[in-house]
Amino acid sequence: MSSMSINIPVNEPLIDGNEKKYLLECIDSGWISSEGPFVEEFERKFAERVGRKYAVAVSNGTAAIDLAVEALCIGDGDEVILPAFTIISCVLQIVRSGAIPVLVDSDPCTWNMNVSQIEAKITAKTKAIMIVHIYGLPVNMDPVIELARRYGLRIIEDAAEMHGQTYLGAPCGSFGDISTFSFYPNKHITTGEGGMVVTNDLALADACRSLRNLCFQPSKRFVHERLGWNMRMTNLQAAIGLAQLERLDEFVDRKRRMGCLYTRLLEGIKGFDLPLSKTDYAENIYWVYGLNINGDQEINAKEAMNRLAKRGIGTRPFFYPMHEQPILREMGFFKGERYPEAEKLSRKGFYIPSGMALTQDQIKHVAHEIREEFS
Ligand SMILES: *Cc1c(COP(=O)(O)O)cnc(C)c1O
Repeated sequence: MSSMSINIPVNEPLIDGNEKKYLLECIDSGWISSEGPFVEEFERKFAERVGRKYAVAVSNGTAAIDLAVEALCIGDGDEVILPAFTIISCVLQIVRSGAIPVLVDSDPCTWNMNVSQIEAKITAKTKAIMIVHIYGLPVNMDPVIELARRYGLRIIEDAAEMHGQTYLGAPCGSFGDISTFSFYPNKHITTGEGGMVVTNDLALADACRSLRNLCFQPSKRFVHERLGWNMRMTNLQAAIGLAQLERLDEFVDRKRRMGCLYTRLLEGIKGFDLPLSKTDYAENIYWVYGLNINGDQEINAKEAMNRLAKRGIGTRPFFYPMHEQPILREMGFFKGERYPEAEKLSRKGFYIPSGMALTQDQIKHVAHEIREEFS
């Protein structure tokens, strides 16, 4: 596919606000490392925005999840329940720490984890439920919160794709004992690479701050009592993040309008299911605009994507389910387990150009090409 020229890329960020100005401040002042003042300011404003007491900026969204799992002391033999349909980032620290990922299937309408399947997976070893809001609609949180209370479980909330989204009016990122975000360039706000951990629990926030910074100790700097990482965010990244955060409402509006326009232009197209525009608890923010090939069409996502590439349209496949990941199977996880909805999403789903910089004309062009190719 790389030999073909793609005219409309699947993602392009919008970085035309105060990013340049703040970056120049970093350079003029010499503050480019994680010690610079933008890091704290970005943390403070981000925490405020999601209604949490503490925010800890890190090097990427995967690192944020690693920190969350480690800060909650999840390890040997502990079980963590999470969706089969997600990104590998969610599983990495669980399996590296010796804990066990336990999967649930997807809800075919929202593509999020099917929360009605969680309770049957809870055992005496279950420590946490990791919820992951997928592609634009949040997980139905009330049943998850009720289960966590009843069974004494922690909630880790991966809100990487949910900047600015709410569940029944409360911000995504406000539901976990620890919640995490990513600022990769395809997210609603970006720092190039970057991530954030948020929590209301001071002890957890302190643990995250320490773990992100090699567990240096204030009084005995080079004496270590816990294994940490260097996951620090630089002042340069935070400068960009701050400028992006200033525009979050505008960005969410923009994505919603993009999603609505795609839906209007593609409505009724044979062979594809379009994303749900809303549920009882949230309106879609279309982190990406996904298409699902339905029973009216024999092809799988790969074939559809190849055909669109020939027309210059960039696409990406949906996630590949955790129970089918070669490395996790090799490690002995998920033997004989099937998650049919997750499998169907991964084979039949893909997303079309959805980046923040996408124009209305580009959306019209993409929708036109899709209609031409598949009618
Ligand atoms: C992007 C993403 C991540 C990983 O974030 P990085 O910054 O790329 O490490 C984790 N979880 C979800 C749901 C994501 O979309």
